[in-house]
Parts: sequence; structure tokens; C-alpha cells
Amino acid sequence: MEGNRRLEVLERQLCAVQLAEAPELIDAAALSAICPKQLQALLVHDNPELRSAVFEFLKGDIFKPNHYLSLMEFRELTLQRLQRFVAADFGGRGFDVRDYMNDPRRFMAGLECLSFCDYSMAIKAGVHFTLCGGTICKLGTAKHHNALLPKLNTLELPGCFGMTELGHGSNVMGIETTAVYDAPRGEFVITTPSNEASKYWIGGSGQHGKICAVFAQLTVGGVWQGPHVFMVRIRDDSGRLMPGVRIKDHGPKMGLNGVDNGQIWFDSVRVPRDAMLDRYASVDAAGTYSSPIPTVSARFGTMVGGLTTGRILIGQGAVTACMIGTTIALRYASQRPQFGDKLIGDYLTHQRRLLPGLATTYALQLGMKQLKVAAFDAAKPDAKLVHVLSSGLKAAATWSRVEVLQQCRECCGGMGFLAANKIGPMKTDMDVDVTFEGDNTVMMQQVARALLDDPATARLNAPGSWDRVALAGTPHVSAGQLHSLLQAHERSLLCHLRDAMASASSGKGGKGAAAAAAAAAFEENLDLVVQLGWAHVEARCMGYMLDEARSAPGGAAAGVSVLAQLYGATRIEARLAHYLQVGLLNGADAAALRLAVNKACRQLGSGGPAAPALKLCDAFGIPEHLLAAPIAKNWREMGQTL
Ligand SMILES: Cc1cc2nc3c(=O)[nH]c(=O)nc-3n(C[C@H](O)[C@H](O)[C@H](O)COP(=O)(O)OP(=O)(O)OC[C@H]3O[C@@H](n4cnc5c(N)ncnc54)[C@H](O)[C@@H]3O)c2cc1C
Repeated sequence: MEGNRRLEVLERQLCAVQLAEAPELIDAAALSAICPKQLQALLVHDNPELRSAVFEFLKGDIFKPNHYLSLMEFRELTLQRLQRFVAADFGGRGFDVRDYMNDPRRFMAGLECLSFCDYSMAIKAGVHFTLCGGTICKLGTAKHHNALLPKLNTLELPGCFGMTELGHGSNVMGIETTAVYDAPRGEFVITTPSNEASKYWIGGSGQHGKICAVFAQLTVGGVWQGPHVFMVRIRDDSGRLMPGVRIKDHGPKMGLNGVDNGQIWFDSVRVPRDAMLDRYASVDAAGTYSSPIPTVSARFGTMVGGLTTGRILIGQGAVTACMIGTTIALRYASQRPQFGDKLIGDYLTHQRRLLPGLATTYALQLGMKQLKVAAFDAAKPDAKLVHVLSSGLKAAATWSRVEVLQQCRECCGGMGFLAANKIGPMKTDMDVDVTFEGDNTVMMQQVARALLDDPATARLNAPGSWDRVALAGTPHVSAGQLHSLLQAHERSLLCHLRDAMASASSGKGGKGAAAAAAAAAFEENLDLVVQLGWAHVEARCMGYMLDEARSAPGGAAAGVSVLAQLYGATRIEARLAHYLQVGLLNGADAAALRLAVNKACRQLGSGGPAAPALKLCDAFGIPEHLLAAPIAKNWREMGQTL
């Protein structure tokens, strides 16, 4: 007892010492060296001319926010906005869906810009061009490209993507819609065998869609071949439903109401043999099925592989929203006093609520940059890396967006609730991004599974207290130390899960029984599985920030290294329980970390309009007409500028 009390006293004394000696996170000289122009060049991933042209185009009156529209009017406006987009010139090349194959960075850049303006427009474009058009590009052959892509380019044929069913969302392999080849007639018969097999949530199908990329289980000559994709007309040229197609409009949703989602049933709909996208599998006239990919599961992987581009776009849209939200909230905070002359941005709580989000936004933007390099620039992309990064960053970016926008809305007080100030509509319109294009929890499981499947995992040693980075009593914490801690955190989760799965499967007779026991152990630890996904993304993003800080010109390097420090420290703080549990930090370190973060937030957020945080927001380069929120300009003129 006595010993315990002495230990407690000692611990308290140690913490008290640390109160006076918080380690430095941010070097003051770096703050004054930050150059928004140089930083912007680092943050804009590619195609600056196209991006400028699209931003300029979005100055048109039709793109101005209008929060008074009915559901049907908003859908109509969204369609008209898209019609303008497809007709625009953009420096002579316009926007071409074939760039999905020929110039994917240009394709992405054009679509990314739309989410700066309105998410319904961005998603309607994303469904049409990326999900429908991209699927035709990736899984179709010349006959599909020639017949369909020109009509997608002009919106003559508005496209949908029919993967999800009422009964089968995340589990795509389980879809029930059938496609049976009728050899004598040379046609496929597409059928919805039960209500649970109806296509559900299909964007664009409620009202405007005319063609749909339908995922269905293929049977040829009585043999099941797994999910394949068929291009099915759902409406004719004048917009009437095709024979055998029934559609129910979903009606109002909690947001994203410019997009017309719907439910589709196919009652023995006949489509010609050419309707099957046949790049990776085909059926000849006599009814012989062939594919260079031998197994159903490998073929399925190829069929859904095209979703990566959409996933990157969704993740990028979330980072864009974080840029917009933090810029609005920080600008407002830098001008608005409350309780005398004190600016709300000078309260520590305000800095603590907004600045970690700013650091996260940078980390994710630089993470997305490396994902695009991996996906689009390599002669032969590393498929596993692209899968892990696209899944992990999609989940981390969209979950972070939820948190960042909520903080931004609260930090703006009542003004955050006003639709004209943009944060609120972004919150409701984008809320879906955490569950569509791959549900986040399922995405993080895929990241963890890929890491655990890597043979290198077997050689890893679990970190212990010898990996502790003593924050208490150190004058300065380096970004390298924070990175080491983030990596040790990931390693600890990885080793824990590896060991749990290994011990569950050891001694089980037969390969099948051992695999089933390991899978059960994975399921029993799903909480840690998701944490591992997060830990991997965070360690990677921190690494990318440090790489950029090493190679970027001075004014950009200064900004990135300052935010890398804050990112690393606040991510560790958010997961403190685990660091303490495995001995990577102790109580005194935790106390020191808190103070160090407080100090860094003060350095970045104080100073009103001269606060360094505002320079870091300027580097996002968001055009004023797309920032749109009156409180981002001069809140004192509210009502006069609306
Ligand atoms: C506005 C909107 C637009 C959409 N547009 C389209 C479209 O154009 N085309 C299309 O095909 N689809 C579309 N979708 C469907 C979307 O892709 C699905 O909603 C998504 O795949 C999730 O499926 P679900 O809704 O059935 O959820 P479920 O898969 O049923 O998941 C429900 C919950 O269970 C959890 N869960 C599920 N499986 C697991 C697991 N293995 N482990 C742990 N937890 C699990 C999830 O995390 C989630 O919280 C759209 C959806 C919406 C809302």
C-alpha cells in the first residue's frame, strides 16, 4: 500500500515537472517561412490549367447555390449543370470519358473540381462518367467503346451503375440478379428473381438514366460463371421505361437530393449477346463461355477492380470538403470577437478543434497524391498497394470529413447552421460517402486483411516499452520520433492480430479447419482490425508528409513540416489509450504531449488575420466564388451581401 502511494506521488511530481517543460513541436522560424504559393504547387496534384478552366466555368450563374428549390427542381438543375459541363470547351479538349483510359489524371481532375461547387452535381457526374463510363472503358471492348462512349460524352445516354441490391450491399459477390444465355436466340435474359434482388440505390435511375451497367450472375449452358456486367437499356430515347423494366424512384433523401436514386426490377429483359462487357470473359454465338481468368473469385476481383477510380474520387471529394470547411471556419474565427475584443479564434478550445483538422486535411491531400502516383503513373501499378491505399484513404478521408465538418460547423456557432455558409449543406450532402463506394468499416477490414496476408508480417516483432519515445523531459519532439511512434502503433496491432489468428489456428487438423479458425479469430477482433486500418493510413500519411518536407522548396517544406508535427502528435493523442496500454508512452509522456499540442495550436492559430493557419488555408487555392460562404469574407456584412 505504502509503496503504491509513493509511486503515485512520484508520478504526480513527474507530471508536474512536465507541465513546466512541454516539449516543442513547432519551430517558430518555420512558421514565418511558410509560403502559400509554394505550398499550393505541392498540394495541387496535376492538370493546373484544366482545374483553372473548370473553376472559371463554375462562375456561371447556373452554378450559384440555390437553397430554395424543390426536390424535382433541384434534380432538374443538377441535370442542366451536367449538360453545361459536357458542352464546355475547357481549353479545346472538353471533357472526354475516354480519358478514363487515355489520361486518367485529366479525367479525375475534371471531376474533382465539381465537388468544390455542389456534391449532387459531382456525384451525378461521377455515377455517369466514372461508374458507368469507367466500367464500359475497363470491362468493355472496342464495340462497346465505339457504340456507347460518344453518347455518354454528350449525355445523350445518361448512364447508371447497377451493382447494389436491396439484399446485397457490401457483399457484392452475393448479388442475385441473373443473366442466362439463350443460345438459340443469341440473347441474355436478365431477371430479378426476388424483391431482395432488385437493384437498389441506383444513382440516376429514378428519373434520367437511360442505360445501366447491370451486375448479374451469369449462367451459360447451365454452368454458373459468377458476376458479369451487362449494358441494359432501362429507358428509351424519349425517356419511357423499356419493356420488362420497372423502376421506383427513391424520392427525398437526407441529402444529395439533386441525384435521382431508384430501385430497378428486371422481368426477363432480353439483351443481345453484345450487351455483355467482354474484355475479360466472353460467350460465343454457340454458347461457349471463355475467359483468360480461370476462377470465379479472380474474375470477380477484376469485375469490381474498376471501382478504384470512383473510390479515389470519393476520398478526394472528402478532402476537398475539409479544405473548404476549415478555410471558412478559420477565416470566420480570425475576425469574430466574442466576450469583448477577444477573437473566437484565439480561444484554445477553438484552436484545438480546428487545427488538428487542418493538419489532417494536409496529411490526406498528400496521401491522395501518392495514391494517384501509385495508381496512374507506374508503368505496371502495384495492385496490392493501390488496393490498400485506395481503400484505407477512402475510409480515413470520409470519416475525417465527418469529424472535421462537424467541428467547423460548431466553431462557427449559429452561422455554421446557415445553409448559405456552405458547411451545413456539405455535411448533409456528403454524409453518404462513409458508406457508399465501399462501406468504411468493410474498407478498413480489407486494408487489415491485405497487411496480415503479407508474408513479411510473420517476421515482425511486437513493439514494447523499449520502443518508447520519451516525450516527457525532452526539449523538442522531432517529426521522425512521432513517425516512429505511429509505425510502432501499427506494428503492435498487426502483431496482436497475427498472433491471435495463429494461436486460434494452431493444432487444427487440416488446412480448411485452420483457415476457418484464423478467420473466426479475425472476426472476434474486428475492433482492432479497424484500428489497424487507421494506424496504417496514419503512419503512411505521416511518412508522405516527411518525404514532401524533405524534398519541397523552403516555403512549402516549412508548412508541411509544421503540420506533420501537429498531425503526428494529434493522431497519437487520439489513440492514447493504446499507446499507454502497450507501453509506447507513459503517463508523463501523455501529459507532455497534451501541453506540446496546446502550444503548437497556439502558435498556429493565434494572431487573428495574421495567424499562420490562414496562410496554410490560402495554400488550398480555393477560388472565392467557390468558397461562397459570406462568413468567409466579412461576417459584419451579413444580410447586405446575400
Ligand atoms: C445515396 C446513395 C447512392 C448510391 N448509389 C449507388 C449506385 O449508383 N449504384 C450502386 O450499385 N449502389 C449505390 N449505392 C449503394 C451503396 O454502394 C451501398 O449502400 C453500400 O455498398 C453499402 O451497402 P448497404 O447500404 O446495403 O449496407 P450494408 O452492407 O448492409 O451495411 C450496413 C452496415 O453493416 C456493416 N457491415 C456490413 N458488412 C459488414 C462486415 N462484414 N463486417 C462488419 N460490418 C459490416 C456496415 O459497416 C454498415 O454499417 C448508393 C447508396 C446511397 C445511399
